[in-house]
Amino acid sequence: MLESLTPQPPDALLALIKLHDEDDRPDKIDLGVGVYRTGQGDTPVFAAVKRAEERLVNEQDSKSYLGPEGDIGFVNALMPYLFGKDATMGGRIAGMQTPGGTGAVRLALALAQKAGTRRVHLGLPSWPNHAQILKDLDLELVGFDHATSEGKADLDSVLGVIAAAEPGDTVLLHGCCHNPTGIDYSNEQWDAIADALSQSAAIPLIDTAYQGLGVGMKEDAYGLRAVLAKVPEALIAQSCDKNFGLYRDRVGAFYAMAKDGSQLEDIMSNAAALARANWSMPPDHGAAAVRKILRDDELTALWLEELETMRTRLRQVRAKLAEAGQSGAIDLKPLGGQNGLFSVLPLAKSQVEALRKDHAIYMAGSGRINVAGLHMGNIEKFVDALAKVSS
Ligand code: PMP
Repeated sequence: MLESLTPQPPDALLALIKLHDEDDRPDKIDLGVGVYRTGQGDTPVFAAVKRAEERLVNEQDSKSYLGPEGDIGFVNALMPYLFGKDATMGGRIAGMQTPGGTGAVRLALALAQKAGTRRVHLGLPSWPNHAQILKDLDLELVGFDHATSEGKADLDSVLGVIAAAEPGDTVLLHGCCHNPTGIDYSNEQWDAIADALSQSAAIPLIDTAYQGLGVGMKEDAYGLRAVLAKVPEALIAQSCDKNFGLYRDRVGAFYAMAKDGSQLEDIMSNAAALARANWSMPPDHGAAAVRKILRDDELTALWLEELETMRTRLRQVRAKLAEAGQSGAIDLKPLGGQNGLFSVLPLAKSQVEALRKDHAIYMAGSGRINVAGLHMGNIEKFVDALAKVSS
């Protein structure tokens, strides 16, 4: 029976990691996989996480089961960072822990499907796993343009989709630090999107995987909060894997906002049943560490400081790239105004390949770069190589 399974394409980024590891050129540059890196190229454990983990080791007295909703202390502690002062929107929001942001997106889409969604509108390009999850759930992906050809967020296209949406449709939006383009909606654009959603038949699903890596924790939640203030119902997927550096510990949360708080129990009982059938319950360790941090003022301050250091470095690299301006046929100026880890360069596949073969520069075939792979010591080489392959 198993012979009938046809091979699936390997994950392109994982294949790239292997090629990069095997390359012995000392000045190689890895702009592929989506993790933060310091100026020295490391992805260290946050000091705040290390301290929280020490406390966990000393204080945790049981590893007994928690249940499908995971660590509710973690889920609740995160809410003010996402939703602001009135963190439950008057008792209309509840959440549960998930295995990473991926688990949260999966759960949100499965729940939407259970409630009647058949089609999901998604700005393209997007994180490739969005499409994979939709395919796996047998949901129809209806794509629209995320950005214009001038590299600005395409407001008309998203507003058109929202206005034409039918009952049961879901609109999936990136909360901040758009993956892969780095092109976020401005606050004014978010206001317009929130107004449109308030008049729309569609339910929004907001996927926030990089809060704090763009402009600031609060600033990066602007769009999410603007939408929640206007719409009756919404689904939210949050990842703490980037902004706490907990990638492999798989730390995420799913939240639902209901029209009326009295509906939350039924909604969350469905979410819990889906979680139970998928992964039973999420891994505990990383979420417990985040709870320890968020419940302690000193650790919270330390974490926010570390996050700011990351954000500042990303902004510095972006500013430096923008300063370089034109590199061959590639205009690097827009990268200065984009947010988060990623940007897409308009490179043909053959140019991406030439960068790898001739210059030891590794990036996704789509031209997506992780700007955290750059630092003051290698930007010049990168900019020169871009000019060489594109002029
Ligand atoms: N959503 C988006 C847009 C992402 O880019 C990512 C991570 N690459 C995720 C969700 C999921 O993150 P994780 O499962 O690692 O927490």
